[in-house]
Amino acid sequence: MANHREGLAIGIDLGTTYSCVAVWQNERVEIIVNDQGNRTTPSFVAFTPAERLVGDAAKNQVARNATNSVFDAKRLIGRRFSDPLVQSDINLWSFKVIEGPSDKPMIVVNYKGEEKHFSAEEISSMVLKKMREIAEAYLGTTVKNVVVTVPAYFNDSQRKATKDAGGIAGLNVLRIINEPTAAAIAYGLDKIADSIGKRNVLIFDLGGGTADVSLLSIEKGVFEVKAVAGDTHLGGEDFDNRMVKHFVEIFRRKHKVDISVNSRALRRLRTACEKAKRILSSAIETIIEVDSLYDGIDFFSTITRAKFAELNMDLFRKSIDIVEKCLTDANMNKSCVHDVVVTGGSSRIPKVQQLLQDFFDGKELCKSINPDEAVAYGAAVQAAILTGIGNGKLKDIVLLDVTPLSLGISINYTDDMSVLIPRNSAIPAKKESNYTTICDNQTSMTISVYEGERARNTDNNFLGGFTLYGIPPAPRCVAKVKVCFDIDANGILNVSAEELSTGVMMNITITNDKARLSSEEIDRMVQDAETFKAEDDEHRKKVKAKEALENYAYDMRSTINNEKIGSKLAPAAKKNIQDAIEEAIEWLDGLQLVDSELYHDKLKWLENICNPITIYGKQ
Ligand code: AMP
Repeated sequence: MANHREGLAIGIDLGTTYSCVAVWQNERVEIIVNDQGNRTTPSFVAFTPAERLVGDAAKNQVARNATNSVFDAKRLIGRRFSDPLVQSDINLWSFKVIEGPSDKPMIVVNYKGEEKHFSAEEISSMVLKKMREIAEAYLGTTVKNVVVTVPAYFNDSQRKATKDAGGIAGLNVLRIINEPTAAAIAYGLDKIADSIGKRNVLIFDLGGGTADVSLLSIEKGVFEVKAVAGDTHLGGEDFDNRMVKHFVEIFRRKHKVDISVNSRALRRLRTACEKAKRILSSAIETIIEVDSLYDGIDFFSTITRAKFAELNMDLFRKSIDIVEKCLTDANMNKSCVHDVVVTGGSSRIPKVQQLLQDFFDGKELCKSINPDEAVAYGAAVQAAILTGIGNGKLKDIVLLDVTPLSLGISINYTDDMSVLIPRNSAIPAKKESNYTTICDNQTSMTISVYEGERARNTDNNFLGGFTLYGIPPAPRCVAKVKVCFDIDANGILNVSAEELSTGVMMNITITNDKARLSSEEIDRMVQDAETFKAEDDEHRKKVKAKEALENYAYDMRSTINNEKIGSKLAPAAKKNIQDAIEEAIEWLDGLQLVDSELYHDKLKWLENICNPITIYGKQ
């Protein structure tokens, strides 16, 4: 390369099916075309006896080389092999995936005559490298810095793996941002100048493999994500499959042969169907033509826009259900949404647009941003902000994402969730809370980190933990341990605990092998939290009542043992109080959690007996 512009940064939309790269220059975003003149590049990597192909070249040869052509790596990235979603996806792919070390899925291909195993990160890194090369060829300079986008529901493990893919590609990943958020940045940039006051914007992103909906509020250049909802398995590929199934049936009726057993024929038919689908977004009828599709038989047929819509109507409706879920999550009525923005290639489908518009009672959709490019556009804007290249208008934009589940801890193997960062909190976020010892002379404290909405951690998802040693021996409740949760802009969580008098400290980063939850699991947990709300509230009430009694009893014990106060009491009265305190502590120790009323009663009883020391204590 001729030169190297240190600060230059690009935005890459690393899509399941297609990727797109953009750059901010000359005070605007430019979408960069690839070597084939296309503005988006297939996220495909193929291995042949002679070479490795990436992008259009890889996709174009899939029919000839299906088992060594890899796509959908984004569905595998950051997931375990045993993940049910991975297991069901494996059945749909023409390439082989096996279990690697630590339950990691490994893609098996034959490359230059040898069997090779690649992780999803490595495959994604090849796509990222290709996107980088496309940008470098256009810009005439080396490019190192990048902002990469991921679906809104990607968990920590998937985000980290995507970041790793960037690292493998030799890129410096400045930030990982959500795809719908990136699309909103693109939209916000267009409107920022004339947006007066707060606007609620719904982003509907229907791509090749995923559907994401996010609700943002935009005010004075600040984007806040109010809620996100999505489906990791809904998009253009599913619509293609429906059309393929339809034509397999037509072929069977006409020629009395089932071509679904022939993967090469299927692949060629799928390519033709995808092309027809795109045409049907602007024409009301089109043809499907594949020479020598099977056994020398040429295939020719037609399809109308209405037929295509009928084949997919349930899937289209499913995408609208996600909109409803997002609004419910944000506790917002659809009438409060000021703008509805469509992004993602599949949102070009007229029937999808109509259903969305009907849902919003006829509101005009914002379609000014090219749907396939909006995400990369936003990523390029964010890259420019982070490198300080953008102009004043860009610098005003601050970006906030949210946590999909509450994050909290339990201490010393108790089962109670103490939430530090509630669900749907804006990130990056930092939250501290002080905890104390529960036994006299306790010198260690075990911190277990969970995500979830339930009161008891047996119902939440365990993320990791550690034990802080070196707490100086002292009566219970004296030592103070500060626990800090720090989520960075990529959604990666660091948890630390520090004993405040000595400064002893331990921390943990929730890493890749600590698998986080899939979007389905997140949905289920949020649903469970609703279902079990009454039960959880009751549990919290009991824990609070127990804590009140426990604290009071231990407080009174240390007060009466205090020479200045204890000596003011008659020996018999003092013994009476001491016995009552010990009885209450023993009662607490031996009990499973009981009804909160029982704790209240016991507390009242103890307060009555301890009344004299409370009076002396105040004198
Ligand atoms: P994206 O992930 O946003 O790049 O979207 C890719 C998906 O959009 C693929 O399934 C494409 O087939 C689909 N797509 C692209 N253009 C169109 C169009 N004009 N009409 C319908 N679907 C399209």
